[in-house]
Amino acid sequence: MSEFGFCDALRTGSLKEIRKFPKADLHNHILMGGRRSAFNKFSGGKIIPFHSVKGDIQELDQWIALVYRPFLLQNPDRFQMALEAAFRQAKSDGVTELEASIDSCYGATFHISPEKVIGALQKAHTSIASEINFRPELGLLRSRSVRSLMALLGPYFHFNYFKTIDLYDDEMAQPIRNFREIYRYAKSAGLRCKAHVGEFGDADSVKEAVMELELDEVQHGIAAAGSTRVMQWLADHKIVLNICPASNVRLKRVKSYKTHPIRILFDHGVKVTINTDDVLIFNKGISEQFLQLYQSGLFTANELDIIRQNGIEKLH
Ligand SMILES: [Zn+2]
Repeated sequence: MSEFGFCDALRTGSLKEIRKFPKADLHNHILMGGRRSAFNKFSGGKIIPFHSVKGDIQELDQWIALVYRPFLLQNPDRFQMALEAAFRQAKSDGVTELEASIDSCYGATFHISPEKVIGALQKAHTSIASEINFRPELGLLRSRSVRSLMALLGPYFHFNYFKTIDLYDDEMAQPIRNFREIYRYAKSAGLRCKAHVGEFGDADSVKEAVMELELDEVQHGIAAAGSTRVMQWLADHKIVLNICPASNVRLKRVKSYKTHPIRILFDHGVKVTINTDDVLIFNKGISEQFLQLYQSGLFTANELDIIRQNGIEKLH
């Protein structure tokens, strides 16, 4: 008799069983990687949950500005607690490979030096989940000027700590080619290059970003499903799409798990992974999303196991 595997765990419908299997989270904004229940517990308060009405990024930005940022600012200990909550969540979900970003503006906004930001990440990793293969990522806001981002990045690169770079926020803020200089700089420093595209933009914007920035991976990229030509190109170039179904549904990018375009991408040979984006906001871990994708009938258990392994293999 063969041993009980990930596919069997999916079929049982038991999250407890699914969580036992190793998995990757490669699209995670670490300050929002913990559960809201954990934040409420350590703060003794209640963070008002995010509700999407229109399904645009401005709503999300507003929630961060009006709810989350003041919450973090209220007490200097909350930065460390938020990082630890993210590692705790990853550990409880069976995440063994974690690639999570901290915003390059964060330290400057809160008057914390790059050295202290890195120290806090190291402390959270080693004290909560040292067994997780953690690859720190530096995040960039697409709405910021390239000049200001370059000034922020320099001191961080100096420590040679970060392994990847990511660009996010409003996809329409400025042309992707503006970031070429930053991405060349990151690549020459040995970082893997990622960017959020094709979440709000179209299929061609995904290909354009990969070409302009020489991306290794794409965060979201689901709009690529609208073009057979772009999907073929992504498959040929072995570009991985780190997809976050719960986030896509909540932000009204897609109607449901059952109709998620990840199925079309998978069928066209594009390598995809399942990720959390922001557990604090979307309240779904990796295991819950695997189960929902299975129970919606979008994928078979075997297909989901292939997707799970896509994430784990990437880092080996
Ligand atoms: Zn994201």
